[in-house]
Amino acid sequence: MIHIKNLHKHFGDSHVLRGIDCDIQPQEVVCVIGPSGSGKSTFLRCMNALESVSEGEVRVNGFPVHDQKTDLNKMRESVGMVFQRFNLFPHMTVLENLLMAPMALRGMSRAQATVFAEGLLAKVGLSDKRDAWPSSLSGGQQQRVAIARALAMQPSIMLFDEPTSALDPELVGDVLEVMKNLASEGMTMVIVTHEMGFAREVADRVIFIDQGIIQEQGTPEQIFSAPQNPRTASFLSKVL
Ligand code: ADP
Ligand code: MG
Repeated sequence: MIHIKNLHKHFGDSHVLRGIDCDIQPQEVVCVIGPSGSGKSTFLRCMNALESVSEGEVRVNGFPVHDQKTDLNKMRESVGMVFQRFNLFPHMTVLENLLMAPMALRGMSRAQATVFAEGLLAKVGLSDKRDAWPSSLSGGQQQRVAIARALAMQPSIMLFDEPTSALDPELVGDVLEVMKNLASEGMTMVIVTHEMGFAREVADRVIFIDQGIIQEQGTPEQIFSAPQNPRTASFLSKVL
């Protein structure tokens, strides 16, 4: 579903991604961990062309993202992305936030999109917030709306960049629960996270990135219980 070969990314003189190879299968849940500044967000952003690729190959759902000729908007329609900061449209109600893309890009009628959006709000446990303004919601609720909004496009892949890092600790659990349910429904997911307990429980594969390179990857059991690379061990000793 995602095929990445020898991916390099430069920002000016800084060589941020230094040769990443990675294939992600349908329905796979991959958690990406690593120190701050190691290139995790850049790696994720290259997957939906929010960053250009300096060198190498990135194919997502068959779309060659590295190719200038690719219709990136078309590609992005099948890739949902959720960021640390839930950028909901503040001047629209929760429901309106969920209607926009399906009506504009999928050609759904308002009635169709509303039925679909209500289903998604139920899924993230926010049916009662349908007509609320984003600013009246807690951070955790806003983030669950952001997830529902991404799902409204019926993506085949969901990318998450530290979706719970900006939340108060007591709000993290509900968001992780929604993600856990998505994973169990078979959504293909790539999740940059510092929630090691979540990664351990939900990931099929954990990728440890440091200095722009995949230093180690494996099952959660392999990575968390028996890391082979001293860098992985050292990182985990600081965060666990
Ligand atoms: P992480 O998500 O692992 O914390 P990032 O991918 O955000 O790391 O950043 C990796 C490196 O790339 C950092 O040194 C960061 O400063 C640099 N970087 C990220 N985005 C840009 C940008 N748009 N311009 C210049 N440097 C950037
Ligand atoms: Mg980051």
